[in-house]
Amino acid sequence: MKYQPFLLRCLLLALLIGFLASCNQSKKQKFSVEDVPDPKKSGGGYVSNPDHLISDATVTELNEKLSTLDNAGKAQVAVVILRSIGDNETRDFAHKLFNYWKIGDKEKNNGLLILMVEDARKLEFETGYGLEADMPDIICFRIQQEYMIPRIKEHNYDAAFTDGVKSVASLFDNGNYAYDMLPDLPGADASLMATDSETVATDEIPPPVTAGDAIDVAPQSFASTEEATSSASNDYTGDFSFMAIIFWLFISAAMMHVFFGKKAKRRKENADEEPLAVTAVPNEFLRPRWIGLIIIHAIAFYTIFYLITKRHMDVGFLKVCLIYYLVWLVFMHVAVLLIMLRTAVMLKNDDRHLKWLRLEVLRRDLRIAGYIFPLPYLWLYIMWLKNRLNHLRNDVYDCPQCAQAMHKLDEAEDDTYLEKGQVVEEKLDSVDYDVWRCDTCNTQTVLNYTNMRSALADCPSCKHKTYKCKKTVTKQRATTSSEGWGIKEYVCAFCAYAHDYQFVIPKISESSSSSSSGSSSSSSSSSSWGGGSSGGGGASSSW
Ligand SMILES: [Zn+2]
Ligand SMILES: [Zn+2]
Repeated sequence: MKYQPFLLRCLLLALLIGFLASCNQSKKQKFSVEDVPDPKKSGGGYVSNPDHLISDATVTELNEKLSTLDNAGKAQVAVVILRSIGDNETRDFAHKLFNYWKIGDKEKNNGLLILMVEDARKLEFETGYGLEADMPDIICFRIQQEYMIPRIKEHNYDAAFTDGVKSVASLFDNGNYAYDMLPDLPGADASLMATDSETVATDEIPPPVTAGDAIDVAPQSFASTEEATSSASNDYTGDFSFMAIIFWLFISAAMMHVFFGKKAKRRKENADEEPLAVTAVPNEFLRPRWIGLIIIHAIAFYTIFYLITKRHMDVGFLKVCLIYYLVWLVFMHVAVLLIMLRTAVMLKNDDRHLKWLRLEVLRRDLRIAGYIFPLPYLWLYIMWLKNRLNHLRNDVYDCPQCAQAMHKLDEAEDDTYLEKGQVVEEKLDSVDYDVWRCDTCNTQTVLNYTNMRSALADCPSCKHKTYKCKKTVTKQRATTSSEGWGIKEYVCAFCAYAHDYQFVIPKISESSSSSSSGSSSSSSSSSSWGGGSSGGGGASSSW
């Protein structure tokens, strides 16, 4: 490459600018834990904003909100917004500052420190022990990610802190940090909602769920309406048939899940989503799910109702079971008929190998249905499917080069034609490879046959089905008032790629809600924090 003085000059200029910029940076104040201005010592507020990164109006607004929260005895929150803390680690800094100021009530330990350090591009939440149940780490993280970080990225610090504090206040007032998801109660005073209807709000508003989960909830809500209607017929039938219906509500939901699998997961761009194990891959031909459940229960319930009211029959536990069984039997046969039609259309243009892969998922799930509802035809269909899969896989291939019949190598022989990763897959029983070889012209074809009952997943790094959950660690147990969370540690058995995935443990559903103690109060303009100490909980986000 030719030496270019112009480029060199540009480089020098860039270095000079960089140097000047770093000089400028070193001029700004780097705070240590001891010299962060304590708002309690200068007017009794909750916000320390020495670099004026948010406006005075916002500081006033935040102080008002936080003082309400503090006076209600729910949480004592300090907001600290700094330009720089030098080379100090922000997580460590937050912990030390929390304990230096002693944020939170001494007995309740309900302190929360929200710290932003601009040049480190870090936002930290540090919580006291007393808040760990009401404000677990995962909720801290969500508040940061959903309400603060997006605004911070836009340099709209005022909005970031207003919305962040609003979310924290909402969490303590309604049990739900997602304040903009709460339904508007017409005519209801916001302050009334915060105190009186607190328990109601906690019970009725579930934490926001992702789109995939939202549909999973549907069968349950259906179940509860069904329970209500069936209890109406309780007078006619007696307790046993009522119990049978409840029993079948659960059985039906379980069977629907086993026979047709989960809803296909919509993959988000989010790379941190847990990978889908082969077992969890759903069939593509039919997934009636809750629509199927509604049909089954509606028909069964109508039949029971008809027999009791019109035929004056005494329908007990066994008869209800028989009715449900027959409805399911018909349902499964109709479903299989639909599946036969759909497979014929959908697989029309696929080659033998692809057909096998798509049909094998179907066989994995329907096999059990074949045992439970064999007659009149379901068992036959399963046997036919098995036979068809066998042909798709084992019928002799013709050589693509010379059109002679090829022959399949046995398990011991084929390893020499497989890549290392493929051999590992065979060892782990996630994929079985067939190697077809033409003796005339030495052509070989390698075909993969996935074991659809394997719990392994695709490795994000080497793409082999050698990725496995090695360990599940619960980091925070779910309580009745808050979700828990944990980490699943995945490792690839072939390329050793490892990654952790965070998961949420749903709240323990019990109608008892978080206790609120509105009676205790401390003066809003006290000149010190409450004497609390950090529990080491919290979360940090960077941008
Ligand atoms: Zn050949
Ligand atoms: Zn790998």
